[in-house]
Amino acid sequence: MVISMSTIYVLGSGFSSAAGAPLSRQVLSRIFCQDNLTPQLTELQQWLSCHLFSRRPRWQEEVNIEEVLTRLDLYRHYQALNAEEIKDLNNREELLLTVFTQLLQPERVNLNPNLYRRFANGLKPGMTIITYNYDLLLEKSFTQLGIPYYYPQLGDPNDGIRLLKLHGSLNLYFCPKCGYVHYFGQEYTHRPKVLVQKEILLNCIKCSENGLEHLTIAPTLFKSYEIPTLRNWWFIALQALSGATEVFFIGYSVPRSDLLAAQLFDFAARLASKPPKVWLINGPRNDGDHHVQIFEDSKVVNTRLTFEQWMERKTDTSTIPR
Ligand SMILES: [Zn+2]
Repeated sequence: MVISMSTIYVLGSGFSSAAGAPLSRQVLSRIFCQDNLTPQLTELQQWLSCHLFSRRPRWQEEVNIEEVLTRLDLYRHYQALNAEEIKDLNNREELLLTVFTQLLQPERVNLNPNLYRRFANGLKPGMTIITYNYDLLLEKSFTQLGIPYYYPQLGDPNDGIRLLKLHGSLNLYFCPKCGYVHYFGQEYTHRPKVLVQKEILLNCIKCSENGLEHLTIAPTLFKSYEIPTLRNWWFIALQALSGATEVFFIGYSVPRSDLLAAQLFDFAARLASKPPKVWLINGPRNDGDHHVQIFEDSKVVNTRLTFEQWMERKTDTSTIPR
């Protein structure tokens, strides 16, 4: 069966885990639950335990990194902090994001290249992929295979795959003054402070502001709509989802903590003139209840397969298996 043009893929951390990236729920334990923790990370862990998770002793195993970032944002907004304390808080957040982005660098997320190339090969030009992942697995596979792709509003739109990275991407930077999003190429993937150590300074091409920020932020209620490109991507995602005939969720469980994402799917399902067929490739743990709730009129098929298992069931080399 050939996949129609209005097939949408929605990818989460379970998509990238076969390449070595951590699942959302594993990020914090990968960072903190290891031997030989550096003094800075030990201090960060103690601070987070004490200030954000005092009633949750096992937070490293239970919460995802987006929740920590959201709580840091709330802390910044609702605590009366002096300049020194804000600086300390920003430094702690920066350390957390630096170690997190290190986990996702292309040289570390490089297992199973054939799996991702096979997936990329099964996609059709003009398809939309919505992803909450920051890593560059797909971009790398597309480049290796010569498959055209683009990020809307950045670079030239082409008839290739449309990639919507709703939480940002390792290779994108934004201007804190005017909000303009920059793409310098796949080789720029580190935090701006790490780049500065290599004497690489990123300036805004629109307003000449010195010092761009990394677009690897989970959109919290405070931040999400400040960056026009990101706002535009969320809107395109809504349009695409509301016109979709089939939606494949791969390794993405619509976490209830991500209110904006839950609203996006909910709103798209209500806008749709005809409900899409929904496939869940979220592994055996996910019961699919949340998806069934959102796409109430659709037929939700929970395969209970992981991405790898689902790809293994591929029988026809020209299509992606159902
Ligand atoms: Zn600017």
